[in-house]
Amino acid sequence: MQINSGSSYKDIIIAGAGPAGCTAALKLRKSGLSILLIDKNTFPRDKVCGDAIGGRAVRVLSMLDPSFPEMLEKLEGVNKSAGWKLYAPNGKSVELHFTYPGHVARRQDFDNFLFRLVKDSGKIEIREGFQLKDVHAGGNFINITNDLGESYHSKLLIACDGAQSVVAKRLAKFRVDLSHYSGAVRAYYTNIKGIYDKEMIEIHLLKKYLPGYFWLFPLDENSANVGFGMLSSDIARRKINLKAAMEEIIYNSPALKDRFKESIRTSDISGFGLPLGGRDMEISGERFMLCGDAASLIDPLNGEGIGNAMLSGLLAGEQALKCFESDNFSVKMMKHYDDSVKHNLTAELKKKLTLQRLFNRSWLINGMVNAGLRFPLIKHFIGRHL
Ligand SMILES: Cc1cc2nc3c(=O)[nH]c(=O)nc-3n(C[C@H](O)[C@H](O)[C@H](O)COP(=O)(O)OP(=O)(O)OC[C@H]3O[C@@H](n4cnc5c(N)ncnc54)[C@H](O)[C@@H]3O)c2cc1C
Repeated sequence: MQINSGSSYKDIIIAGAGPAGCTAALKLRKSGLSILLIDKNTFPRDKVCGDAIGGRAVRVLSMLDPSFPEMLEKLEGVNKSAGWKLYAPNGKSVELHFTYPGHVARRQDFDNFLFRLVKDSGKIEIREGFQLKDVHAGGNFINITNDLGESYHSKLLIACDGAQSVVAKRLAKFRVDLSHYSGAVRAYYTNIKGIYDKEMIEIHLLKKYLPGYFWLFPLDENSANVGFGMLSSDIARRKINLKAAMEEIIYNSPALKDRFKESIRTSDISGFGLPLGGRDMEISGERFMLCGDAASLIDPLNGEGIGNAMLSGLLAGEQALKCFESDNFSVKMMKHYDDSVKHNLTAELKKKLTLQRLFNRSWLINGMVNAGLRFPLIKHFIGRHL
């Protein structure tokens, strides 16, 4: 591969400074390697999301440094989430407590928290406003360029550039499969009634939209991140307008309309795609690894992707260290990363995919919630597996 004149060398390039990219950077901050973290945006930046930072994300943070979870808790605007309330299509609900509590925090704040940890480490070179346009692998290096023609080359690329990953398209030849993809919209509302416990996030399953769901994730006693998502294949087949559907749910559904009567929407309704996990996909190749949304690792049942993105970033960081120890970046060597993602994540995501396929049956969810209300063991089972 020809290296552009003027291209700078780094041992590792991490593309994308979201949860996956920042975690990979934090994992590698003490490696002594020269590492460049690039992002097309300038931080703090927003990301369309439900803002539920699950227990897995908190656990990955503590693996990076035991003091990080406490630092996150102290961040302004971070609301603890201890469990969730699941509303079945028949209107009944069951409350479940998380084994590992998490938080609800605006992504602008959470992602900036991670970004600051990377920046403050002083060990990672950062380039904001660098939009990766093209990537080439071959020979001894991998090369990235932006729209201005600036370029860097490295021995290894960790691609954390999100749902529309350039690297996944170019190097792993990923194409969107609508049956493994969701679309979702969200907005912030205040003056919502009936947030009786701000530590409980709410999931509403509505017969008309199964296996999609409506969420209400409290930020405080009367404000929340509110959203609605469905499988993209269903959106296309049924020609659903997600924004209109979300407003229809808020203002017409019996469980919600009174609670939103005097609410005020404080943001636009914004949407984005969710590449879902649960399939066997090759997420590495010679000199590169894909992490987070770039690797399609979102939970296909509940739409959580932050913790999975962070875990994959951590695993990619571990694999990167092994590659540099042995100076081996071959396809075979990188496959160890695929194996550890499979072991730590894909097996679980496959189970969730099976459940997602079952969840278009409202009678099943009604029955499950009814049973959960009567039998603690079933409630425990639901809590563990959803
Ligand atoms: C509506 C919605 C609601 C969701 N709700 C939740 C939730 O409540 N909880 C949860 O856990 N998950 C949720 N998710 C999923 C979650 O948002 C993602 O799984 C998570 O953000 C993945 O992290 P990531 O680091 O892989 O990617 P991202 O967070 O998308 O970060 C990617 C980074 O790469 C940068 N980038 C992208 N392209 C380029 C480029 N070409 N060049 C340079 N930089 C680039 C971006 O600026 C960004 O900073 C939701 C998703 C959506 C769409």
